[in-house]
This record gives sequence, C-alpha cells and structure tokens, in this order.
Amino acid sequence: MSRDEPVPRDPEDSPRDKLLFTPGPLTTSATVKQAMLHDVGSRDEGFLAVVREVRERLLATYGLAQTRGWEVVLLQGSGTYAVEAALSSLVPRDGKVLALVNGAYGQRIVKMCAAHGIPCEVLRFEENVPVDPAAVDRSLAADRALTHVALVHVETTTGVLNPLNEVGRVVFEHRRAFFVDAMSSFGALPLSVEEAHVHCLAASANKCLEGIPGVAFVLARREVLEASKGCARTLTLDLHAQWRGLEDDGQFRFTPPTQVVLALRQALLEHEAEGGVAGRGARYRANHEVLRGGMEALGFQAYVPRENSSPIIATFLYPRHPRWDFGDFYVRLSQRGFLIYPGKLTRTECFRLGNIGRLYTDDVKALLHAIRAVLTEMGVETPRHG
Ligand SMILES: *Cc1c(COP(=O)(O)O)cnc(C)c1O
Repeated sequence: MSRDEPVPRDPEDSPRDKLLFTPGPLTTSATVKQAMLHDVGSRDEGFLAVVREVRERLLATYGLAQTRGWEVVLLQGSGTYAVEAALSSLVPRDGKVLALVNGAYGQRIVKMCAAHGIPCEVLRFEENVPVDPAAVDRSLAADRALTHVALVHVETTTGVLNPLNEVGRVVFEHRRAFFVDAMSSFGALPLSVEEAHVHCLAASANKCLEGIPGVAFVLARREVLEASKGCARTLTLDLHAQWRGLEDDGQFRFTPPTQVVLALRQALLEHEAEGGVAGRGARYRANHEVLRGGMEALGFQAYVPRENSSPIIATFLYPRHPRWDFGDFYVRLSQRGFLIYPGKLTRTECFRLGNIGRLYTDDVKALLHAIRAVLTEMGVETPRHG
C-alpha cells in the first residue's frame, strides 16, 4: 500500500484515546476492541473454534501449518511469558544457552536462565549495532557444551534489526538449536523459519499483530515440542503440557483470556485484509520513514544508524540544550494526545518513538507537528547535537 493511500481509519477508532507511539501496548482498531464485547465459556465449542482458528492463522502468517511440522502453543500472559516458557520448558536439564545480547530483551533472556538455573553464556554487543554472526561462530566452536542459541530478532530497546538468517545459518552449521524472540517483528517483517533454521520462536498478540495484551504464543517444530516432555521447570509455563492440552481437548489448561483471544482473531483478520506481513510491513516502513526523517529535520539525532535499524521503533538521543527536560517534553506531548516512551539504554540518555499499532503517516505527521510546537514552548528551538 502506498504512502498516499493509507488504509482508511475507522471513524470510531478511539476518538478520545491518546495515540501510543510506544513499543506496546499499542493503539488498536475499534473493531479489535469491539470483538471483546462478549462473554464466552472457555470450554464452549464456539470459543474452542476460535482458538483453533487463531492457531491456524498464526501459523499461516508465515505460510506454516501443522502439516509442515510446525505447531503453535498459545499461552496466557504478555510476550515475556512465552519467551520464558520456551526457555524453561524446551532447554533440557543438560542444556546450555548462548544468549546474544545487544539490548534489554536479550539481557532478560540471561535473567530467565539465571532464574531457572540454566547454564548460560553471554555474548554482548554494543546496543546500536547488530549481533555479529562471526562472533557466534567462534563461541559455538569454542564451547561444545552449548546446546541452544537465543537471539532477539528486533531488539526493541533501540530498534536494531539483528541478522536472523545469518545467525541461524551459523547455529545450523554447528548443529545447535535456535530460539528466537520475534516479539516486535512477528507480523511485520519477513521471516523464513526454514531459511533461518529456527527451532522455536516466541511472540505476542499486542505488537505488530495489533491485538490486545494478554495472550502470547510460541511457534515450534513438532519434534522440538515432543522431545521436551517432562523437561519444564514450572507448571504454568510448561509448553509441552500446554500444547498437549490444546491438541487433546482444544482447551487452555488454566483460565484463558477469552476476550483477548476473540480480539486476536479479529486482529488476524485485519492483518490478512491489510495484505499480511507485506502489507503491514509496508505501512510501518512508511510510518518509520516519515518519523525518522521528520525527527532528523527537527534536529534530533537517531541512536541507531539507518542501515542497522528496523522499521518498528526509533531511538533518539537527548538534545544537548539547557532547557531540554524529558519529563516536561513527555507531559506536554501527552497533553496534546501523544504518548511516547522513555529510553532503556544502559549508558546513553535517549527516548523512543514507536511507529507500530494502528497508526498511519498522518498520525506520525501530527506527532511531528506537536513535537515542533512543544519544543518551541519549552524554548528548545534547535535540539542540535555536538
Ligand atoms: C515487547 C517485547 C517482549 C515482551 O515484553 P512484554 O512486556 O512481556 O510484552 C519481549 N521481547 C521483545 C523484543 C519485545 O519487544
């Protein structure tokens, strides 16, 4: 879809809600919110049919199906729950994880391993550069005990896009298992589990799929799930047991977030109507171009070089100006109806602007207009650097 022909905004799209220029939860369509206005029984055939449809559609998002050896396990909770479920229930007792870290979400994987007593080696990179496949190759060659490699596809801390296929090839050549946190890429960026030799990936309803927070999911090769029986370190995050429950009687083991699943079905229909991954990705790229170009024109400096950046979120350095104050900037933008996001970097002072969710280039232009006005109010006329 071209930038000049945005998907028309539903006139009922939350006219009073602030627009969320964040990494999630995100602005969603009115129809996704309306899909939740039902009370359904968790064991009722109507709901079980929705669960089946959602599982099929999640696989179909990337052309996968059970017939091709791929399974999808839905799980209550936000995306972190799915990542932790995958790590804590698929890595065997004698396993060891190589965590590739260039941001807070990679670091979260390290924390999860620590919490479950899973041996973990950490390979760190600067936060504005992608993971280096050659370094992964060296680590795997040096330590035969490593069984699994964990990569965050888009590091939402900064927006850095990591080289999924290249890392996957290295992992495959060393015959190890490849786990991917695809939270902020699933549904918007191209992804071939075959080309990247992925064993399992975790994502959630409320990022690029534009659903409601509360349900997450893991896509995994069937033999990976089968091999994990009895391996889980917790009851609630036991992926194998959750999968068997969904397969055997179609149900979640524990109370499902019924309304959230109804909303996810609607979100998946809207994803398909927009042209699937290609269509959604094109809208986000258009948003991102306008956002990044507009911010740079205002004098802001992006933290991640363009060539390393995903079209999901952008990180901007704090301007060096005596009257710059992020708290003040945030509140003034919020009063104008725009919510932005603080930074999450370990060393650099920055803030983030997400461009995913039910947002269009006109919304981005409105945000840029508001930023210009707020800077003038604050007396930060030219937020230049150096
Ligand atoms: C959003 C996100 C998560 C999950 O975070 P939650 O707060 O649990 O939703 C995990 N990894 C990445 C890369 C993310 O962007």
